[in-house]
Amino acid sequence: GRPRVVVVGGGSGGATAARHLAMQSGGAIDVTLVEPSRTYYTCYFSNLALGGVWSFDDLGHSYANLAAVHGINVVHDWAVGVDRDARTVTLAGGGVLPWDRLVLSPGIDFVDGAVPGWDVAAQGRMPHAYKGGTQAALLAAQVEGMREGGVFAMVAPPNPYRCPPGPYERISMVAHVLTQRNPTAKILLVDPKESFSKQALFEEGWQRHYPGMIERIDPLFGADNVSVDPEAMTVDIDGVIEQVDVCNVIPAQKAGRIAEVAGLTNDAGWVPVDPHTMKARADEAVFVLGDASQQGDMPKSGYSANSQAKVAVNVIRHELLDTRLFPARYSNTCWSLIAPDDGVKVGAAYDATDEKIATRDSFISQTGEDTDLRAATFAESIGWYRGITADMFG
Ligand code: FAD
Repeated sequence: GRPRVVVVGGGSGGATAARHLAMQSGGAIDVTLVEPSRTYYTCYFSNLALGGVWSFDDLGHSYANLAAVHGINVVHDWAVGVDRDARTVTLAGGGVLPWDRLVLSPGIDFVDGAVPGWDVAAQGRMPHAYKGGTQAALLAAQVEGMREGGVFAMVAPPNPYRCPPGPYERISMVAHVLTQRNPTAKILLVDPKESFSKQALFEEGWQRHYPGMIERIDPLFGADNVSVDPEAMTVDIDGVIEQVDVCNVIPAQKAGRIAEVAGLTNDAGWVPVDPHTMKARADEAVFVLGDASQQGDMPKSGYSANSQAKVAVNVIRHELLDTRLFPARYSNTCWSLIAPDDGVKVGAAYDATDEKIATRDSFISQTGEDTDLRAATFAESIGWYRGITADMFG
């Protein structure tokens, strides 16, 4: 019969891989996509929805076309086991899927105990809003319900984590909402890192749009020693207790659990991959895409996962259908919105070396750019959003 590829995770990496495998093989490969959710809510632009400049409804995307138009066998279930010798995936519902090549793109899970006092059971009171789904809307409702002059706190994650500028775009969008509705409110950014992505751009923008609203505490002042109490709504920063009204905890991260179940993760919790192919270093038949992979210089982003999926698809088609193999090339851009129409970006093109995916050329927005350029950068990001979601689900 046809060679079989099972893709676990229907997000940025997995949906792209499944769709391109099906499309480019013209039905010659039997593609199964395993994903528990019936609707994929993008994390990208969820900060914009939080800021009221995008709609939460517009974040949701259906798998219907992948099945109906592209003939992909879409299975809404959790993968709970991987047998790499027998080459099967086991589903929570009991099904067993055989494969010739396996693609894992399960995204992230949180490191247990990373922020003492917080665990997923506390996500209703102190949302992470760092995976797709309802968490971002919950955080938006909490911001809306803040008392006048209240405190919004964010506990930011240590490196490496998904979307390096994401926490700071979120701070910007919360500040935008509060400036309009609750201008005496304060934002407390508790960050274990000494520096962060696009820092000069964010700090310039915060000064300009939200003067006096945002206070950042860094490791020099104890922000690397933080715990929370979700019942009391307090944040303990190196012994100093802050009472807060909303608390967004974004814990330290690791590869989605199924990668660990498959026995592919390293001590840091990520899956080392071959930069030329996106194959797990530990198994030639398993490709690991996106946030779960440890590949070198690319940030953990939707753009990166989409780019990596195309490299994996090229290799899989070559191996299963003997099509032409092209050298791996990757690219990424991360846009962030600081205020309505004030968009910035950072990005790079990458080559594969034996050791890692390595930056070839990079670019970043500059401080002091005029408003027309910033508006054009924001417009570009909307084009990217339309493009990647069509590339995954169209
Ligand atoms: P995901 O897209 O998270 O997909 C993983 C999928 O796997 C999920 O649908 C999950 O349900 C499924 N899954 C997990 N485990 C299993 C299992 N055992 N069985 C079956 N299915 C499973 N990136 C950008 O490029 N641009 C941005 O502007 C941007 N903004 C962001 C803003 C925020 C606030 C956040 C949090 C992230 C942002 N990102 C952005 C990052 C981006 O969302 C991720 O890097 C990207 O989605 C990673 O793709 P992935 O395929 O690795 O994981």
